[in-house]
Amino acid sequence: MHALFHALSCVRRWGGRAEDYLPVHEWLDATKELMADCRHRALRHHSHGVFEAERLFGRSIVNADGKIVPVREIAERHIKEDCGGHIPTVADWLSRMRIESWMNRGYREPDGEETANHG
Ligand SMILES: [Zn+2]
Repeated sequence: MHALFHALSCVRRWGGRAEDYLPVHEWLDATKELMADCRHRALRHHSHGVFEAERLFGRSIVNADGKIVPVREIAERHIKEDCGGHIPTVADWLSRMRIESWMNRGYREPDGEETANHG
């Protein structure tokens, strides 16, 4: 879903103009520059990304109608719209990543899983 459509979704929810919400949505989707398919979402579409957005854009914005809208709620709405109605964690994404030996100094666990004590 394009950032503009996420912004229009916010206008339907909280009023104001699309431009009020676009910076948050464009930041969440900027990782499309790195990978063109849905896996780009692994970098910001998660609970940590919600709090990163809040640190970057502040706790809230004031939209064109003068309404205060929490940045956390804007980011959560975006992620739910993209991720089947829920907000994954970073672990949800990373645990689905296949472990390659180059990720761990050439070592691979016999079952393909890494243990936490390799540092
Ligand atoms: Zn997105």
